[in-house]
Amino acid sequence: MPAPEFQYTVAKTASLSGTALHTGDKVTLKLQPAPVDHGIKFKRKDLQDEPTIDAKIENLKTVERATTIGEGSVRVHTVEHILSALSAMGVDNAIVEMDANEPPIGDGSAQPYVDLIKRAGVTAQEEPRNFFDVREPMHVETKTGALLVVLPDNKFRISCTQAGPNNRFTQFLSMEVTPAYFEREIAPARTFVYYEDVKPLMDKNLIKGGSLENAIVVRGDAVLSKEPLRFNDEFVRHKILDIIGDLALVGRRIRGHVVAVKPGHATNADLARLIVREQTRRSALAAPRTIPSGDGGLDPDQILEILPHRFPFLMVDRIISFETETKCVGVKTVTINEPFFQGHFPGHPVMPGVMQIEAMAQVASILLFKLAKTTSRIGYFMSADAVKFRKPVLPGDTIFVHAELTKSRGERLAKAKCHCVVNDAVVSEAELMFTFLDK
Ligand SMILES: [Zn+2]
Repeated sequence: MPAPEFQYTVAKTASLSGTALHTGDKVTLKLQPAPVDHGIKFKRKDLQDEPTIDAKIENLKTVERATTIGEGSVRVHTVEHILSALSAMGVDNAIVEMDANEPPIGDGSAQPYVDLIKRAGVTAQEEPRNFFDVREPMHVETKTGALLVVLPDNKFRISCTQAGPNNRFTQFLSMEVTPAYFEREIAPARTFVYYEDVKPLMDKNLIKGGSLENAIVVRGDAVLSKEPLRFNDEFVRHKILDIIGDLALVGRRIRGHVVAVKPGHATNADLARLIVREQTRRSALAAPRTIPSGDGGLDPDQILEILPHRFPFLMVDRIISFETETKCVGVKTVTINEPFFQGHFPGHPVMPGVMQIEAMAQVASILLFKLAKTTSRIGYFMSADAVKFRKPVLPGDTIFVHAELTKSRGERLAKAKCHCVVNDAVVSEAELMFTFLDK
C-alpha cells in the first residue's frame, strides 16, 4: 500500500493584479488558504454579499473560447488557467478572491498563477486526498472530430494531439502531470487563437483586454505574437494546460491516462461531467467491506423485534446504516444452507430473484415501521415495478440491500426504491409499493 497522499492548501495569501480579458478592466486576485475538503472556490469580492462559486462541473455555464462557471446570476469567466495551475501544482483547497468577473489574463499562459502559488507556498493538511480512479475506458466524442478517452493508469497522464484547420500545426505531446513538469513545460504555453475566429469578436469589441501580449494569433500559416514562440509545439502544450484546468472541475484528483485528439473546452467539460456521473454512481453503490455493528444500525435481535418474519423467510441479517430517516442499507449473507437452494437448482444453486425482492421489501419495511413507530401492522405488497435482475447471486455472497422511501401517503401506503449490491455491482433493483394493515 502506498503512503496516503494528503490534501494541500496554500500556506498564506498571495495576490496578483492585471487585466481581465473580456472587459479589459483591472482586476486583483487574492489566493487564500482553505480548510480540508473545501475544494477550490471563487469569491466575487466586488459584488454585494461577496458570493462564492464552487469550481465544480455542476456550475459550468459556457465553454465558448473559455470556461465560465456560475451560480444564479453570478459568473466567473476564464477559470481554466488558474484551475490548471492549482491542480497541477497540487493545491486541493483554496479561495480565489477577485474584484471582477474573471482572473487577470496575464500573458495568456498559466505562468503568472504558478508564480502566485509559489509565492503563497503549499502546505499539507491532515486529510487524505480524494481520487477518481479510472477503472475502465471512458470516452467522449463530438461531430467536429474531437475525441477524449481516459484509460486506467496509476498516474495522471495526458497524451494530446492538436490539429488546426486543414491539419495545420498538428502537434503531439505525452506527459505525466507533476508539479515540476507542469511548471517547466506546460505553464508557460500561451493561448493561441485563429485570426478568423477572433476577428468578429474584435469587431464587436468583445475582447477588450485581448492583445498580442496575451495570445498568439495564427493567421494562415503565419504566427503573430509579441514574443516569439516559447516552444516549437507551444499549441499542444496549451491544449494540455486547458485539459488539466477543465478536468479540475471534477473536484477530485484523477488517476488515469487521458488521450485527447483535437480537444476543446466543450469536450473537456463533457469528460469532466462523465467522470463525475461515474463517481456519483460509484458512491451510490459503495457498500462497506466490513459490517459495522452498534450505533447507527440494527443487530439481528433488534430486527426480530421489528419484523414479523422468521426463518426461513427472514431475509435481512442486520441494518448497517441509516443515512436519513428514509434511507438505509441492510445486509443478508447468503449461505449454502438456505432452504431454497435445495430446489433452485439441484447441483446449480442460484438465489431466486423473488427472494431478493423479498429482501428489499423487508429492509424497506424496517424504514416504514421506524417512521410510523409501530410494529402492530403487517405490510402487503401492492406492486413491484422496474424490476431488473442483473447478475446471479450465489452461495457465499453478501448482499447489501439499499432501500429508500420515495413516497409515503399517510401511514398506510408507501413506495420504495431499492437495489441489491454484491461485490460492488448491482445484482437487482426494483420499485416497490406497499400497504399496511393491522395485524
Ligand atoms: Zn487556455
